[in-house]
Amino acid sequence: MNPIIAGNWKMNKDPVESRALVQQLLELTGDVKNREIIIIPPFTSLSIVAELTRTSRIKLGAQNMYWERSGAYTGEISGVFLKSLGCDYVLIGHSERRHIMGETDEIINKKLKAALEIGLISIFCCGETEKEREDGRTEEVITRQLQHGLKDIEDQVHKMIIAYEPVWAIGTGKTATPQQAAEVHAFIRSRLQKQVAVLYGGSVKPDNVDALMSENEINGCLVGGASLKPESFARIVKFNR
Ligand code: PEP
Repeated sequence: MNPIIAGNWKMNKDPVESRALVQQLLELTGDVKNREIIIIPPFTSLSIVAELTRTSRIKLGAQNMYWERSGAYTGEISGVFLKSLGCDYVLIGHSERRHIMGETDEIINKKLKAALEIGLISIFCCGETEKEREDGRTEEVITRQLQHGLKDIEDQVHKMIIAYEPVWAIGTGKTATPQQAAEVHAFIRSRLQKQVAVLYGGSVKPDNVDALMSENEINGCLVGGASLKPESFARIVKFNR
């Protein structure tokens, strides 16, 4: 399995800025082999990024989706639409959606089920807060997120990617040490019935990616802030073990 490097742009980059960023990324990563590169722009830039990356090795993902295919759900986006735009991936259960938008494990479960039916590969995010880690509850929290998120679909987990993203490391500049990440990745694997790729996310930068990717347990990275600058994202894609 090739290592997977995914860049989550969050609510950044308007369509004009998105075009410029992708064009630079295409130049900087044109020579990359043996890596899966996924770009996850805001919805408003998906079609531009799809058009620019069509003949490249860069794949497209969306940051969220609704669980119904169509209907009276004002403001929501169907996974069917994402698929028809050229998305192969969708982020589900990102900590910002859990903690700012109030997404529950039950909502996440509905979205994971819908993505499976549509044939989108979910990047299913889980991770503990700082307080939960300090209280020694990391494994309990991850177990709950996996159990409830994967209710009735655990036998299909091999069609997804798991992203371990400790909440205390997202956008804070505090990265989990490679050992801390590897420990939780091994725990996640031990809880699942099937082999699955597990990415690490949380302040991944050009200067810490090599050490993180040296851990066998870490199959790739989900990158937020550092994916907004073409040089830093390209350096992360080109990590050295
Ligand atoms: C993320 O958005 O998933 C993320 C990990 O962000 P950052 O790299 O900025 O911590």
